[in-house]
Amino acid sequence: GLALERPAETRIFTVSNQKGGVGKTTSTVNLSAALADQGFNVLVIDIDPQGNASTALGIPHSADTDSIYDVLIDDLSLADVVADCPDVDGLSVVPATIHLAGAEIELVSLVAREQRLQRALEEYFRHRESQGQERLDYVFIDCPPSLGLLTVNAFVAAQEVLIPIQCEYYALEGLSQLLNNIHMIQKHLNPVLRVSTILLTMYDGRTNLASQVVSEVKEHFAEEVLSSKIPRSVRIAEAPSYQQSVISYDRSSSGALAYLEAAAEIVKRSN
Ligand code: ADP
Ligand code: MG
Repeated sequence: GLALERPAETRIFTVSNQKGGVGKTTSTVNLSAALADQGFNVLVIDIDPQGNASTALGIPHSADTDSIYDVLIDDLSLADVVADCPDVDGLSVVPATIHLAGAEIELVSLVAREQRLQRALEEYFRHRESQGQERLDYVFIDCPPSLGLLTVNAFVAAQEVLIPIQCEYYALEGLSQLLNNIHMIQKHLNPVLRVSTILLTMYDGRTNLASQVVSEVKEHFAEEVLSSKIPRSVRIAEAPSYQQSVISYDRSSSGALAYLEAAAEIVKRSN
């Protein structure tokens, strides 16, 4: 059985930060793997044209793979494109392909352009129920480093935003723009959306800079910031090239333990 309680309803997280390289994909992959490891049913939706989350989780995503692109643009069902992660039981993945790069523009002229992911997810939940499949506990949507229509679709589909913040110079730069966008989404498209979780990534406790960033983030986000910080770790960086999460790549590493702790904190906050 589960040591941790299942959420009362599926918790849907958008993992977003308009900066690249801050740990969005790494955190999506490893938090999802950590939650699946604890027995939860988890879905990752890759909506970054780079498809890094798909790659890291060992999911094929060559140009001819049916993907989130076909769901958003051609009304394919999520059930038709979802794949089981070979590395982690209980984790399934909706892959992204390079076609998604064009979706940002193609979406503009489509009906309900901001709601397409939300509708696809709702339909998928009903589909799973009709198939007698267990309810999903957690969904993580890995966003591109931009605030275009793909990210808007993710914000509309989610209840929670998880913002990874890299413990580096300029960590908070541009964050107010992200928060403004989230505020706009709350006002016009998704009133339940909230920034529930801030995750500090690539933390190096030996530097003054890192602790400065931590206290600055705590000043702004006292409630939201997780107390588990993700350390800078070679194991975390290496794992994707073996198409493994760091949890299965090196379970006793500091990086794996940090993601397991962060996942447990996220679980406890729901109840
Ligand atoms: P984003 O999705 O925000 O662009 P990534 O998750 O792809 O960022 O991370 C950017 C790079 O940093 C990747 O090469 C990744 O392997 C590396 N990385 C992420 N987190 C860590 C960490 N805690 N320790 C070491 N390297 C990391
Ligand atoms: Mg990424």
